Amino acid sequence: MFRKVFIFCSCVIFLGGCVFDSEPMPEIVYGSGSKPIIIPPRITKPKPDMGSVYKNIPRDWLPPSHLEKRWAAVVVHHSATEKGNAAIFHKIHIEQKHWDGVGYDFVIGNGTDSGDGQVEVTFRWRKQIPGAHCGGTANNWANRDGVGICLVGDFTYTVPTARQMESLVKLIRFLQKRYRIPKSRIYGHSSTPGAHITACPGKRFPMSRLKAMLY
Ligand SMILES: [Zn+2]
Repeated sequence: MFRKVFIFCSCVIFLGGCVFDSEPMPEIVYGSGSKPIIIPPRITKPKPDMGSVYKNIPRDWLPPSHLEKRWAAVVVHHSATEKGNAAIFHKIHIEQKHWDGVGYDFVIGNGTDSGDGQVEVTFRWRKQIPGAHCGGTANNWANRDGVGICLVGDFTYTVPTARQMESLVKLIRFLQKRYRIPKSRIYGHSSTPGAHITACPGKRFPMSRLKAMLY
């Protein structure tokens, strides 16, 4: 019995030394019975892989190839409302702001009028046309070159849901990878260079936590 355990331990140590240098090793405990108990190591999560960014990406995140333009930045907004979805904002932006439709490229729901963490793609992204999310004009750089993402909610008072943050990170990572957008050009609306003074995306929006999760 001792010999078997010795051989097993030798193999584990040998393999550990050769292959899994920095990985945690299984622990062997000798209980009251004759057989040793082997406790498997805790598996740590693999680090994010840049290559995995296209896996499980919804098809509608990819713009039509003949229209696709280059994007240089991402501007994150909140809707400043408790509820809403892309269709509701589309109607409001036409009727109240007299724009040609919803100002954002993407809207991420909070479980009220669309799914919690659901990413809606708007006509702006599908047509690859300038946004109306930063200053409201078609001519400033943030609207022309920045992708506008709106999270439903008022983050002056609340925080985004876990699923909203999960979708936001996934979406921004996709955009970063596809358009080579560095972390330094991921903005909250209020910190976007040239933006009008605004509280958007709200003082409780976790911008530093978001940045820590990006490339
Ligand atoms: Zn905004």
